[in-house]
Amino acid sequence: MTVAVVLFTSDLRLHDHPPLRAALAAADEVVPLFVRDPGVHAAGFDAPNRAAFLADCLRDLDASLRRRGGRLVVRTGPVVREAGAVAAECGAAEVHTAAGVSGYAQRREERLREDLGRRGVALRVHDAVITAVAAGAVTPAGSDHYAVFTPYFRRWSQERLRETCSAPRTVRVPDAVRGEPLPSRDELPGLSPGLPAGGETRGRERFARWARSRMAEYEEGHDDLAGDVTSRLSPHLHFGTLSPVELVQRARARGGVGAEAFVRQLCWRDFHHQVLAARPEASRRDYRPRHDRWRTEDEAAEDVAAWREGRTGYPLVDAAMRQLLHEGWMHNRARLLAASFLAKTLYVDWRVGARHFLDLLVDGDLVNNQLNWQWVAGTGTDSRPNRVLNPVRQGRRYDPSGAYVRRWVPELENVDERNVHEPWRLPEDRRAALGYPAPLIDLADGLARFQHARGLD
Ligand SMILES: Cc1cc2nc3c(=O)[nH]c(=O)nc-3n(C[C@H](O)[C@H](O)[C@H](O)COP(=O)(O)OP(=O)(O)OC[C@H]3O[C@@H](n4cnc5c(N)ncnc54)[C@H](O)[C@@H]3O)c2cc1C
Repeated sequence: MTVAVVLFTSDLRLHDHPPLRAALAAADEVVPLFVRDPGVHAAGFDAPNRAAFLADCLRDLDASLRRRGGRLVVRTGPVVREAGAVAAECGAAEVHTAAGVSGYAQRREERLREDLGRRGVALRVHDAVITAVAAGAVTPAGSDHYAVFTPYFRRWSQERLRETCSAPRTVRVPDAVRGEPLPSRDELPGLSPGLPAGGETRGRERFARWARSRMAEYEEGHDDLAGDVTSRLSPHLHFGTLSPVELVQRARARGGVGAEAFVRQLCWRDFHHQVLAARPEASRRDYRPRHDRWRTEDEAAEDVAAWREGRTGYPLVDAAMRQLLHEGWMHNRARLLAASFLAKTLYVDWRVGARHFLDLLVDGDLVNNQLNWQWVAGTGTDSRPNRVLNPVRQGRRYDPSGAYVRRWVPELENVDERNVHEPWRLPEDRRAALGYPAPLIDLADGLARFQHARGLD
């Protein structure tokens, strides 16, 4: 009887899963393994909202495997040690896993290769599992990655995607391999009250429903904050309960401008993956230094606290930050504004904001979070690094009726359309009765400080 191990990481699904397919083709029995690595905890990457979504994903994966005659084996410990121990316990000749891009994933892969090699076990790493096009598969002349999105998108769009594969019908798991009880979201304190539930089953249902009902509106509506037209698939893509290859193919098969715009966003995701794969240090260091002398968290403690809690006195920023606290998720347009406000208007180090996002976002992802923060801070790949978003103008444009602000900032629920983004314009007695804070900073002062710091004045 031959055995292979499938090490699941950010690919918690059975549909379109090349490592699982390859393991099933190579061996009679397969151990589907997920390792809860304390290193992830030590690095602060298992924030409660994500740990809860992850627990849902593992339970769903286990239930789907059981319906096919198998089960998920969960172990706790350093991932390299546990993968090696499981391979030894079941006499596996191969371990299959998906290629990752972060520094952590790259180190994991190297150490796995070494450790398994010493045991005579082969490591098989599969590309285009976590991204649609493998990081590094397309490169411009003279560089190891694309630093500009548009040419990357052009090239990426021409790339032939691999064939998708269906979920297996049966998975036979050797009895002898010991597993641990599955984690549960009920054990986790401090979850956002509106946190979505995770798992491949829900992810597939969500995509199918959204593609049927809202994808056609996506091109026109994706920036409308109150409309909430975007797919909300980001946590599913983060945990890999949905396959990006499959999503691109299914969207293309549907066709239309909405589908095209959605595919373009999936390309942004791949774009950031290929940047971080080539420059893993960009998760911490400025990708393009602009000689900023950011204010630190200590220097700006009160401003940072007001930003985090959604009481800056700028309704759109506050709505965004309160949505994050409540749902563990935020609309992209709101992320752009909230991040610009912290990094540029308040001139606080982007890493302070990125950390807070990572503490709460259910889709919080080292690749997309850090590189989007850098994009907004002007230290990343944005070709207009010094633009500063104005919360009042953004409000009038992307939340013209104020419905998004009123949803998240109840103090303003009775304020009319004209004043909802500028409540300070209301007569003094009305304003005082709202119980809503006055603006934390004059926007002109924030802009002047930023422009001075960047040498633009
Ligand atoms: C400051 C900041 C921080 C961010 N942090 C994260 C993060 O931690 N994790 C994360 O997944 N996304 C992050 N994003 C990107 C984007 O905001 C979210 O992916 C998007 O809002 C998720 O909503 P959706 O699934 O409805 O997106 P849709 O509009 O439906 O897009 C479909 C998918 O495309 C991908 N996508 C869309 N926009 C981007 C983008 N700008 N960069 C990379 N991928 C994108 C996502 O996987 C998304 O699920 C961040 C953006 C900003 C400005």
